[in-house]
Amino acid sequence: MSAIKYFLTLGVIGWLVLGLGGCGDSDSDGGAERQENASASTATHSHSGVKETPGPNGGRVIKSVQPAFEFFVLKNRHVQLTYLDDQMQPIPAVINARISLIGGDRMSPSSLTFMKSGDVLQSDKPLPPGDRYPVILTIEQNSEIIPVQEKFNVDFSVCGSCNLQEYACICGH
Ligand SMILES: [Zn+2]
Repeated sequence: MSAIKYFLTLGVIGWLVLGLGGCGDSDSDGGAERQENASASTATHSHSGVKETPGPNGGRVIKSVQPAFEFFVLKNRHVQLTYLDDQMQPIPAVINARISLIGGDRMSPSSLTFMKSGDVLQSDKPLPPGDRYPVILTIEQNSEIIPVQEKFNVDFSVCGSCNLQEYACICGH
C-alpha cells in the first residue's frame, strides 16, 4: 500500500465532501456559485477584515500547520510551496512533508503531488485549466497524526484592494 495512494484517496474523500458554499467572496466577479452540497461546509478561513501579511512571493500563506508555508502558483501553473518562519522568511522545506492537492473540474478533478526541489516543494504537474475552482490540500508533516486538509478557491482574478490574486488575498473581505 503506497503512501501516495493512501494520500490521494484521502484527498478524493475530502473532495467529495467539499461544500462550495463556505466562501461567499464572489461579490465582484458575480460567478455562479454552485449550490449543491453547500450546507455542511465549515469554512476554514474567516472574512475578519484584518489585513494579513502576504507570502514572500505574493502567494497564500497556509497557517493550519507548523511551520506555515506559502502556496504560490508559478507562471507555468505549477504550484510552489515555500516554508516560512515566524517572520514570514523562507526556510528549507520540512523533511518528510507529504502534501497533495486535488482540484479543478468537479466531475474529473486533477491530483497533484509535491516534491522537494532545492529548499521548496514543487508540484509534479501544473494546475488544471480554469481561472477559479476549489482545491483541497492534504498536508502531513512533523507530528501531525491526522493529515490537515486546507480547502480554498484557486482564483486568479486580482483583488482590487490588495492587488494580489484572490487566492492569496490578504484583505479578509
Ligand atoms: Zn485583497
